This record gives sequence, structure tokens and C-alpha cells, in this order.
Amino acid sequence: MKCRRIVSIGLLPDYVRAQFEPEYEILSVSDSSREEVVKAMDETVIAVIARGSVYFDGELMDRAPGLKLIARTGVGYDSVSIEEATDRGLPVTYTPGAMSRSVGELTLSLILAACKKLNIWRQALQDADWNLRYLETSQDLEGKILGIIGYGRIGRQVRMLSRGFGLRTLANDPYIDHSSFADDDITFVSFEDLLQQANIITLHVPLTGETRGLINRQNIGLIQPGSVLINTARGPVIESLDLLHKALEKGPLGAVGLDVSPDEPPDAAHPIFRHTRAYVTGHIAARTPLSQQRILETMVREVRAILNGTQPNLANIVNPEVLEDQAGSDSSSS
Ligand code: NAD
Repeated sequence: MKCRRIVSIGLLPDYVRAQFEPEYEILSVSDSSREEVVKAMDETVIAVIARGSVYFDGELMDRAPGLKLIARTGVGYDSVSIEEATDRGLPVTYTPGAMSRSVGELTLSLILAACKKLNIWRQALQDADWNLRYLETSQDLEGKILGIIGYGRIGRQVRMLSRGFGLRTLANDPYIDHSSFADDDITFVSFEDLLQQANIITLHVPLTGETRGLINRQNIGLIQPGSVLINTARGPVIESLDLLHKALEKGPLGAVGLDVSPDEPPDAAHPIFRHTRAYVTGHIAARTPLSQQRILETMVREVRAILNGTQPNLANIVNPEVLEDQAGSDSSSS
């Protein structure tokens, strides 16, 4: 049977489908049901667009022997087993940078909402509690210390967007050359120093074995009382929602801002989602027309290049060595 099917885990807008059809058939399956993905994988599948949270591992890859590539729509690729894709010679495309600005903007929104205590003031109005304005205060960003953990594309956007608020900025990122950011007016410190010194801590690391549970019950106590913790990176970078809820109730956290949860979709009944000092959104930081357009255009371009046998932009390939190996074996056999 000829392999002509592209499986999209999660929905694709019609204008994106139109760029593949009728040459390829598109089958969309739920982005949170492994069972549906298992059923969709067969010998007709030529490419998989892995959106959402179903983990795309070697077992799923092996069910589709005609598979030529896996595409991610985003910068995080923790939902694909890169090692198993590389072992099978499958390139994994992604779209780094396409949504950095939008994620930076949502991060700033969560910081502002948390510092200005927007939930509390809305509740006071709904409760006709006018006197609360004499008893409670918002916080200014001016004079506060912002701590950025992971100073990559999004961490730097947050730094750029936060200029003008009069914050002092610390960053922690052991994997970059700190000297190249000498003009950023930023101080690089250890992870522990950042937790101890910052009033606003924002996470921008990828989810890896090292960053899973980066904020945990052993170190959350280092954070200053009343501090704000923001996570727009990946949910499992914080040990659990229970830990955050406890830290809001008993200290040290003054507020949290979350776009991501350890499990997605999360348990909507978790008390954190009703906490007055929790500002929450459901993994929507990159769901803006501009970012979606950039993400989907890049994805379509790279998928079509690989399927057509032309050269994709290697900056958008997580494991470019796979394509280099293929090029090497093509030239040695010609
Ligand atoms: P990036 O690769 O440009 O930056 C990540 C930075 O983290 C790198 O500089 C790296 O050196 C650093 N880092 C890695 N491990 C670290 C550690 N243990 N301690 C400190 N720093 C560490 O990635 P990016 O484009 O800035 O994206 C960051 C993450 O944001 C993505 O991996 C993704 O998980 C998440 N993200 C979320 C959304 C959303 O919708 N909420 C959208 C896009 C990206």
C-alpha cells in the first residue's frame, strides 16, 4: 500500500491542511489519547505532526514502517523520543523562535497580574468590599529583583520586554557563555542564589532529565517569603501542583503564574486553579495568530522539504545528524 497519509496528533487549521491535500491525506486524532494515536499508526503513514501531550515513542514509530519524519509545532520536543527517532533515522522538525515573543508577553502578563493582585481586586468588586482598598496593596515591579532560570530565546525576550519596569535582573543558565551578554545589564548567579535573592522567579528551561522537578520540596524553602513564581516552560519542571498549593498556603510563595501543568490537560478540580493568588492559563502562551502563523508555516515548509527530498533548514531539525548521515550514504552510493 502506498504511504500517503500524514497523521496530525491534535487539530490542524484548514489552511494548513490545504497545503498538504490532496497530495497527502490528513488524519487528525486526539492530542491526549495514546489509544487513538496507536490506532492511527499503520503502513500508510508517511509523516506525523506531533502536537499535544501524547508521548511519541519507538513503539509508535515502529507501527508506521513508512514513516519519514516527525514534526513538532513548537520549540519543546519532550513529547517525542528523540533518541528512538534518531536510532531509526527519522528527522524531527521543530520551530524554535517562532513563538518566543508571545511566550515572553504572556510571562510578563502573569508577572503583572500576580504583582498587581488582579484576582483579589476583581473579587473585592464582586463582593462589594470597597474597604479592601484601604487594607490590601498591590506590588510595584520597580525596585524588585527578577530571576530568569534558563536564558535562551524566551528568557531573553522576558528580559527585553521587562526593560523599563525598573527591575534588577538575575539569570541562571549554566549552558551559555555569560560573557556574550555583558551588554544585557544582567547578573548571572547560581540556581540557589537566584532562588534566595529574586522576588519574581520565572522558568524558561526545556524539560529534560535534569530540569524535571527543578523546583521541588527540598529547595522551595530557599525562595523569599512573598515571592512570585512563574512557569510558562513545562509543567513537570515544578515537582507538583500540590507543592505549589502548599507553598501558597503556608509560604514562601506570595503568588504563582502558570501556563503549564505537570499533566495536560490537568485535573480541573485541583484547588490551585481556584486559589486567589494563582494566575493560570492552559498552555496557551503561543496561541496567538502571529505565533501560530510562524509555527505552522515553518512546520509545513520543513515537512514538505523532507517529503520532497529537498534540503530543510537544519536550524529547524532537532537531530540534523540523521539528514547528514542520509546525505553521506546517498553520495557514497552514487
Ligand atoms: P532555548 O533552548 O532557547 O532556551 C532554553 C535555555 O535553558 C537554554 O539557554 C539552556 O542553556 C537553558 N537550560 C537548560 N537546562 C538548564 C538548567 N538545568 N538550568 C538553567 N538553564 C538551563 O528554548 P526557548 O525557545 O527559550 O524555550 C524554552 C522552553 O519554553 C521550551 O523548551 C518549552 O518547553 C517552553 N515553551 C513553552 C511554550 C508555551 O506554550 N507555554 C511555548 C514555547 C516554549
